[in-house]
Amino acid sequence: MKDNVLHIQGVSVEQLATACQTPLYIYDENKITEKLSRFHELFQSDTFKTEVLYASKAFSCKAMVELVAQYGLSLDVVSGGELYTAKQAGFPMERVYFHGNNKSYDEIMMALDYGVGTIIVDNAMECDMLVKAVKRSGRSIKTMLRVNPGVEAHTHKYIVTAHLDSKFGISITKKKEIAAMIHTLTSVAEITFLGYHSHIGSQIFDKQAYVAEIEKLMQFTKEMQTEYDIHISALNLGGGFAALYTNADHPIPLQDVCHTILDTCKKENAKQQLNIEKIMIEPGRSIVAEAGSTLYRVGYQKQTEHKKYIFVDGGMSDNIRPALYQAEYACDIANRMQEDKTETVTIAGKCCESGDILIENAKLPKVSQNDLLIIYTTGAYGYSMASNYNKLGRPAVVFVKDGHARVVIKKESYENMLDLECNEVINV
Ligand SMILES: *Cc1c(COP(=O)(O)O)cnc(C)c1O
Repeated sequence: MKDNVLHIQGVSVEQLATACQTPLYIYDENKITEKLSRFHELFQSDTFKTEVLYASKAFSCKAMVELVAQYGLSLDVVSGGELYTAKQAGFPMERVYFHGNNKSYDEIMMALDYGVGTIIVDNAMECDMLVKAVKRSGRSIKTMLRVNPGVEAHTHKYIVTAHLDSKFGISITKKKEIAAMIHTLTSVAEITFLGYHSHIGSQIFDKQAYVAEIEKLMQFTKEMQTEYDIHISALNLGGGFAALYTNADHPIPLQDVCHTILDTCKKENAKQQLNIEKIMIEPGRSIVAEAGSTLYRVGYQKQTEHKKYIFVDGGMSDNIRPALYQAEYACDIANRMQEDKTETVTIAGKCCESGDILIENAKLPKVSQNDLLIIYTTGAYGYSMASNYNKLGRPAVVFVKDGHARVVIKKESYENMLDLECNEVINV
């Protein structure tokens, strides 16, 4: 901070706002790379091979994927678009894992064509589709099967994915169907089956959730071994590690969560007399959330009966999470960092929805028009969930590092938004 103005990695956000316009996503590149290397070094075991996969849906662009490659992590993708991004960034395809509950035949073919390392199969119909695609392409592929251990992580119910009626994966209670799927996969010479995958939720604060997940999965693995003679070599435990959004959040320290996971795996692997060789995790949010902030320009203010509104030049179009999950954030006036916080205000966006509120009850200094408002911890599921609602162009993304800034995604212009519009007659 200098002269009351927030600096990120030595770069004045006021200068960034002038150079790149607002709203603007600003990532502290050193914070991203610290997380990447921390996960890489902490998720190590003397019992298992380990692998950390960055779940790119949290924030995917070529610059990000390049960092993931440099720091030696692997990559999760969930669509042809994320896969294409990885390919364009030159990411080693062998280290790509392709997820999703409704991959199309074309997407599966694309993955086989690109030489993707592993496909995580979600359901029985996909299993058949994959076999067809593999036979057609003649390519080899490793597979895992997404199962649902029925463990609910303690977090907002809309982001829990592993209850028994989840749209993701197949419940571990359906052992016969699972055995049939694995049989289908292993009867094809080009398909290798590695083991089970599960992902029990997001923004998880309680490491007991992972312990419960591992216990259930290991017990299930044992049962599949005893009842169907199905042996696995790898277990993928998914992501979900919490990030710090406000001071009310207490994420599990990385060291702690990595240790708990690997230690529980070691115990359960021994207890169930299994021979699992490899454990994987897939953090998304926890790698990028805290590294990113969104900078807005303050416009008008309005006093209603009970509230004082501060309007900013973005909103749910660049951050849908408050409207979607009642997610909470912290903020500052980035050009009044040393002033006393005397006001309690509601930060609202400019979109045509009453629910377009970014923060309720924000404590700020007295705010003036054209001030800069910064919202912290918007690095995950911010840009990746952004839309053109109300034809607002998606903001630019800048990476700052050691006093330098670079634009990694340009601001979407009006022309960009109309680029795809046309008047083409279809011959039907
Ligand atoms: C979304 C997702 C992740 C990452 O979740 P975070 O909460 O961002 O860590 C990992 N694995 C799968 C299968 C996912 O769908």
